Amino acid sequence: MKYISTRGTAPVLNFEEVLLAGLASDGGLYVPETLPSFSKEEIANWANLSYAELAFKVISPFVSDSVAASDLKKMIDETYAGFSHSAVAPLKELGTNEWVQELFHGPTLAFKDFALQLLGRLMDYALAKRGERLVIMGATSGDTGSAAIEGCRHSDHLDIFILHPHNRVSEVQRRQMTTILEDNVFNIALEGNFDDCQQMVKDSFADQSFLNGRKLGAVNSINWARIMSQIVYYFSAALALGGPYREVSFSVPTGNFGDIFAGYLAKQMGLPIKQLVVATNRNDILHRVISGNDMSKGTLEHTLSPSMDIMVSSNFERLLFDVYGRDGAAIADLMDRFKSGPVKLDGARWDSVRELFDSAAVNDEDTCATIASVYEETGYLLDPHTAIGVKAGRECNRDASVPMITLATAHPVKFPDAVLKAGLDAPQLPPHMADLFEREERVSVIDNDIAQVQAFMAGHMHD
Ligand SMILES: *Cc1c(COP(=O)(O)O)cnc(C)c1O
Repeated sequence: MKYISTRGTAPVLNFEEVLLAGLASDGGLYVPETLPSFSKEEIANWANLSYAELAFKVISPFVSDSVAASDLKKMIDETYAGFSHSAVAPLKELGTNEWVQELFHGPTLAFKDFALQLLGRLMDYALAKRGERLVIMGATSGDTGSAAIEGCRHSDHLDIFILHPHNRVSEVQRRQMTTILEDNVFNIALEGNFDDCQQMVKDSFADQSFLNGRKLGAVNSINWARIMSQIVYYFSAALALGGPYREVSFSVPTGNFGDIFAGYLAKQMGLPIKQLVVATNRNDILHRVISGNDMSKGTLEHTLSPSMDIMVSSNFERLLFDVYGRDGAAIADLMDRFKSGPVKLDGARWDSVRELFDSAAVNDEDTCATIASVYEETGYLLDPHTAIGVKAGRECNRDASVPMITLATAHPVKFPDAVLKAGLDAPQLPPHMADLFEREERVSVIDNDIAQVQAFMAGHMHD
């Protein structure tokens, strides 16, 4: 499988190169040159597979030039054996044709474990083969950091540095990062906000001279391997509800557009998906694009669903690349104009986005109301991100005879504020995390100054 950049001029890479690269050198994101596609008969044959067996079928075509089949199988088996539910991504029924798919049974209780547990293993495998090391640098407002650290902590070839805004992540989220004490894991609490963290990571990728010849690797969803791993659970959910001979729809709590883009890919690969609903909070750039062709940066709003607090959804570029007929020059031009102000998509391109996606934006008040009412009706407790998905799925549903599946992206225990605001009791930590508040923490508080951060990294990475 070859990978090409959405902006058309960066070198074509194979899977291993894409895995270890960050952004493409032309500023674009890597996508497969062609997608594998599966017939209904092939998909139907997967109905009785375990989650790990299914993952092997879906992921193999994307990696086969770089990873031996038996090694891939082993890494996938180990990844999903580490999840605490035997079904890995179980479905729960909320009402008639209304479901949630629980994606929070991984070690850090959010869906990001599905990709990052595998990504860490794939990177380690590739680096061992090459006899190289890589420095991972990432910024987090919450869930990505802990999942990335958990995915990299056992690696012999990775040092991981995660920046979070000092005193601005929840205590559970902070402790999930800072209580990991392996000597290749470094938590930096930056005296700044999330945008400062993210800007520092971007600037460091652009000029890596501070690493004395070492290279940076990316764990955010610009990394293609993350998207690839997320395609699997769309197949798993559809198969569990009668697919591929019955259509299903998905509502996806969306921030950076990585998770729902994986759903779009599942559809392109042959899975009969009727509707894909983009569910956002008040940071609603995607809803504004889809509903009104208004692609403009808003101001960052802090909401009860912080993992979706984002002004620009970088993976949307991957969709636009397809919608613009894979014309890299057109995407480079569009993104260039977007840098300096609002843009509109060409009319026909916008129409095709709307054919593929519906959208809704949900505010904090409605998020809490949904948590409360679903709990009252069913006894099931939603986290605030998932509640936004459920609410948007109800609003946008075009065909009540088709199951609407909301991806439950996090466990409610990670976001007690929203649950309390909904008038309910805060949930208990699951057994494997019950002592989280007693564990030792290790974190370095550093000024909002890139020179100090880079000096810290250069001084702590391993040879
Ligand atoms: C990261 C995250 C999201 C958003 O996913 P994207 O792929 O960025 O759209 C939604 N919910 C939770 C709980 C998350 O951690």
